Amino acid sequence: MANKNIRALSSRKELNDNLFENIAGLSQKNVSKEDFQELAKRFMIDDSVVVGAASFYDFTREENRNKKIHVCSGTACMMANTQSKLKKNIENYFDKSEIGHAACVGRCHSSNAFMFDSKTYSATNEKELSSIISDKKHQENNYNIGCNTTPILTSKIENISNFYSLAEKFKEKPQQVIQELKTSNLRGRGGAGFPFWFKLDAVIKESNPKKYIVCNADEGDPGAYSDMYLMEHQAHKVLFGMYLSGLTVSANTGVLYIRGEYPDSIKIVGEAINELKEKNLIGDFKFKIIRGQGSYVCGEETALLNSIEGLRPEVRVRPPYPAQYGLYGKPTVLSNVETFANIHWILENGGEAFAKLGTKQSTGTKLVSLDSFFNKPGMYEIEMGTDLHTIFSEFGGGFKSKIKGFQIGGPLGGIVPMHKIADLTLDFESLNSNGFLLGHASVVSIPTDFPMVKFLEHLMEFTSDESCGKCYPCRIGSFRGMEMLQKAQTSSYKIDRQLFDDLLETLEIGSLCALGGGVPLPIKNALQYFEEELKHYFTSN
Ligand code: SF4
Repeated sequence: MANKNIRALSSRKELNDNLFENIAGLSQKNVSKEDFQELAKRFMIDDSVVVGAASFYDFTREENRNKKIHVCSGTACMMANTQSKLKKNIENYFDKSEIGHAACVGRCHSSNAFMFDSKTYSATNEKELSSIISDKKHQENNYNIGCNTTPILTSKIENISNFYSLAEKFKEKPQQVIQELKTSNLRGRGGAGFPFWFKLDAVIKESNPKKYIVCNADEGDPGAYSDMYLMEHQAHKVLFGMYLSGLTVSANTGVLYIRGEYPDSIKIVGEAINELKEKNLIGDFKFKIIRGQGSYVCGEETALLNSIEGLRPEVRVRPPYPAQYGLYGKPTVLSNVETFANIHWILENGGEAFAKLGTKQSTGTKLVSLDSFFNKPGMYEIEMGTDLHTIFSEFGGGFKSKIKGFQIGGPLGGIVPMHKIADLTLDFESLNSNGFLLGHASVVSIPTDFPMVKFLEHLMEFTSDESCGKCYPCRIGSFRGMEMLQKAQTSSYKIDRQLFDDLLETLEIGSLCALGGGVPLPIKNALQYFEEELKHYFTSN
């Protein structure tokens, strides 16, 4: 009820004078407590709401406001073992108190990554770092791009006006759009694989005259940079998908929630929106970009909605779902970047053509992000159903050094040992039936000499750091799991296996969302496939 009331007060000023942006703005200026109180007064909310939100995010909490440079602490950079040297070099230029961290800045293909002066960089040596810090010049984020089939997401748009003219054909035909999407069997690319047409259909059926389209561009999975690729190289495919969704459900506002760790994406999408306005291609449809402030859990759809509203981004209990009660309590189509980016191709070529690509249940293509351990790291558009071996050898060019396994699909995805590659194809079903998860299809390699127990500790620590705190299995359980794994590495303590299994079960079935509920999966994979290496840390019962 309290959140409903705050939401109602926040929605009075809505997106033009957005509470979350106000909180972020004040935090950046590092203003006094009185200024935050003044903001609360202006929105007629309690001070605690503003303080509660500001204290949540990496970039807005008080102790981080003086940070001048953020070193990437994502899993891919961690596996590449580049960050401690980088940080040491950075300490030659900044006081330790001015150096913060960013969970992943999307440079997983080159590692050595950091964020500085609202830009992201990779610096492989001190000379490079020195010139970045003195010149502050933009550094191209270069990586390989390829495709093994009909390009849907990686093809070039020749003419923007022609591209958007397709909307005219479907303008007042919502049922035709639904039918094409249904035939295509386009499933959400954010990880859950939910049929996209169903979301549109559910929002069409809502009678509320105010509706929203929200694009989840908070690509927080360390190792994934496919949404970043789309925003920086294919922004109009994403924007068209949102615009067309708006026409279909009668919504005239599209909000893109883009993570703050992707400053180039924010800039490029902003320029693309301006281009649409200048060319008058989208009528009275409005876009709004909201810059994330450093929080993994905001990739969870309801936490993301709360975040836009200026509330503390705690996960909401569902139902009601966003289609019925979304942004500011209004019906909302909420989907991820890659899902929206597929819509133009489907409507131009027909749902049937899309369904012919891939497998029966996993149609179309999927962007796959390969990390710096590959000889050809990069972003590859791969037809669903392609075997992993082909992707890794033909596109990735094999591995540069010895690895014992990899994590696919982010921190909640599966940990796959090398011998399982031969059994797997790139689709929801193959990975699920083998006990893994497709997720966002990012691949983070785990080198042979990196202790698996340390990797598990990292997963528990990540969950504990990023937990929204709403439910105790995740809030407390992930921290306890991390403690156990740490203690087992630094003393003669052995983890009670039964207790650890109980903890995983509690997380799995007692957590409200996929963060706490999902982290047991990779840990169980590791316990199964790396038993020999891990047994030393556990009791044998
Ligand atoms: S599982 Fe974790 S992140 Fe999800 S609602 Fe519970 S505390 Fe929040």
